[in-house]
Amino acid sequence: MTEPAPQPAPTGGPHVTHTPDELRGALADAGRVALVPTMGALHGGHRSLMRLARERADTVVVSIFVNPLQFGPGEDLDRYPRDLPGDTGLCAEEGVDVVFAPTAETMYPLPQMITVDAGAMGERLEGASRPGHFTGVLTVVAKLFDLVRPDSAVFGAKDAQQIALVRRMVADLNMPVEIVGAPTLRDPDGLASSSRNVYLSGAERASALSLSRALTAGRSAAADGPDAVRAAARNVLDEAAGAEPPVELDYLALVDPATFADAPADHEGEAVLAVAARVGTTRLIDNVSVTL
Ligand code: AMP
Repeated sequence: MTEPAPQPAPTGGPHVTHTPDELRGALADAGRVALVPTMGALHGGHRSLMRLARERADTVVVSIFVNPLQFGPGEDLDRYPRDLPGDTGLCAEEGVDVVFAPTAETMYPLPQMITVDAGAMGERLEGASRPGHFTGVLTVVAKLFDLVRPDSAVFGAKDAQQIALVRRMVADLNMPVEIVGAPTLRDPDGLASSSRNVYLSGAERASALSLSRALTAGRSAAADGPDAVRAAARNVLDEAAGAEPPVELDYLALVDPATFADAPADHEGEAVLAVAARVGTTRLIDNVSVTL
């Protein structure tokens, strides 16, 4: 996908709310509601989600909340980029009706005792590297669904394991929300758009391009089976490990999209080729789907 062009801002802009009461007021007579949950520092990837939401709803709600529950000790919670005025302007350009930007104290008035267990799928890949991450994600998504009561919610394929887990939560817990997937938006050089890309220096960004190159190389080997896909991607990443600055691989995995368990050597059909790596102090993730 290429970057959607910004739209002229409609007059007025979104109704910006910070508390459940304000949100409820803004959602009176909302008709069909679509929710786009985000952590802010909005970019073209978020825009593409808002456009999918716009297509299917009378009222588009964008939540902006850097959720402490999904960050582990030593992660980038404190330095995560925050820009509510800029985000509100982008939402205005996209015709978003309501922004919900609560504080952590509003979302978690008590220490959270009851949480959503992400199960075995939540312990693989991202969940193995970031223990508790998906419990934090699913818990805040469940809370947002309860606050906003959306008919649909849009999530990006960029976070493939996250959307798979949200789909499973909605199915397993009978939540009346349609989950809509949006393809990964990439910058023109191939890097997946991400709020965290602002952390990268020019040299780090050049090294980081090996992630998308590895995924493309892996996908090109699909005709030769899962092991060939993994080997082709690993070749690119092995080389990137020696680049300056180096790409420090966290994981490279080819997995079943329904469970995120490793795809066996005789796997046929859809799989997800996923990578996570650190460049400097920035941790990046990316993935592509591969048909075997
Ligand atoms: P975040 O603000 O990073 O938590 O992301 C909010 C939503 O935007 C999630 O559903 C992400 O998967 C999605 N998203 C983030 N980056 C991209 C991208 N490059 N392309 C498509 N969706 C994205």
